[in-house]
Amino acid sequence: MSLDKHSFFNNIIKTQNQHIVLSVLKEKNIELYIKREDQIHPLVSGNKFRKLKYNLQEATNQQKKTLLTFGGAFSNHIVATAVAGTLRGFRTVGIIRGDELGKDVAKTLANNSTLRKASESGMKFEFISREYYREKTRPQFIETLQEKHGDFYSIPEGGTNELAIKGCEEILTTEDSQFDYICSCVGTGGTISGIINNAKDHQKVLGFPALKGDFLENEILKYAKKQENWELIKEYHFGGYGKYTDELIHFINRFKSETDIPLDPIYTGKMMFGVLDMINNKRFPNGSKILIIHTGGLQGIEGFNQRLKSKQKDLKIL
Ligand SMILES: *Cc1c(COP(=O)(O)O)cnc(C)c1O
Repeated sequence: MSLDKHSFFNNIIKTQNQHIVLSVLKEKNIELYIKREDQIHPLVSGNKFRKLKYNLQEATNQQKKTLLTFGGAFSNHIVATAVAGTLRGFRTVGIIRGDELGKDVAKTLANNSTLRKASESGMKFEFISREYYREKTRPQFIETLQEKHGDFYSIPEGGTNELAIKGCEEILTTEDSQFDYICSCVGTGGTISGIINNAKDHQKVLGFPALKGDFLENEILKYAKKQENWELIKEYHFGGYGKYTDELIHFINRFKSETDIPLDPIYTGKMMFGVLDMINNKRFPNGSKILIIHTGGLQGIEGFNQRLKSKQKDLKIL
């Protein structure tokens, strides 16, 4: 994919739909394709690029010099904002959950590849306590941040806002109208809202939440323009956000060895596990054509493996 700054941020980027070949698909007579949004950029991957695109244009229009955003220590959104923001000439500031990480920043960066990549792209961090982090949308909190960092363009945690949805409406293209089902991972619900808005009436959008919780429908209803064409499949969060089982890790490794397609353990691995499980259980009609959105997140594998290793787990994403 072209990294030329102008075309990267100003065109509608179209990614490839890759056909997935697995014996179970032939057996069940299902056609499965995956949209390789992960190939947009190694660090500004998938849906994070889509969500940032119009926010960065808006920050430019408002003549802001600094982007400020929020996230946890393994956030794909933090890295994406650092890299994309720097590419577009902004200073970037990340407000990171967990003040313990700020006690020895050199050590934190040595142990955390996500924050290291963001730092190497020029992002400045402020590490704050979990309690204080919860206050992050309060006006007083924002004022304190402005005193410290000057005027900035603020992007919410996870990157989801109206302009992010507009960017995610560019994921599906006219050629994708041939599919019966579109499958997407769900975190905050921003990405799937954009997909829902641009899906055709004959298509059904299935969301696979990577976390537990019944609040997601309402989040999606805030942004989605349609109410009938989508559904959340809640059986495949593997215990919650960032949680995993050995079976999930083995699945991700086996899927990669059989298809050459890498998946991340936080989002896309869980969704793909779910889709194939549903196919096995005949939950899609015979002859269905399914498109899975690979939302990216592969930068997180390195940090995830570091965590597995520190727990002395004899497991690794290959
Ligand atoms: C952030 C992220 C998501 C979640 O997207 P939402 O718009 O917050 O629902 C899904 N997949 C990957 C790889 C992500 O990094």
